Amino acid sequence: MGTSKTFRFRNYDIRTDDTAEPTYSAECVTGDDADCGARSGEEVERDKLNKWIAEHVRDTGHERFRVTTANYAVATPGEWQ
Ligand SMILES: [Zn+2]
Repeated sequence: MGTSKTFRFRNYDIRTDDTAEPTYSAECVTGDDADCGARSGEEVERDKLNKWIAEHVRDTGHERFRVTTANYAVATPGEWQ
């Protein structure tokens, strides 16, 4: 009757990869009907991201941003369950 599947799961040790620098990016979300949508691109230095934001505020008067931080993870296989 029917089909059944058995899945085996393996534990992984998942850690932040400290050898890779996190990156920051911002998107301007100012706007009533639609977000402005201007994007900074990826920056390794947070100061550069803040500079982009400051310049965008200066040029447009926009004041609301979505800031994303990206980092890297490394998974090391462990025991089977
Ligand atoms: Zn904008």
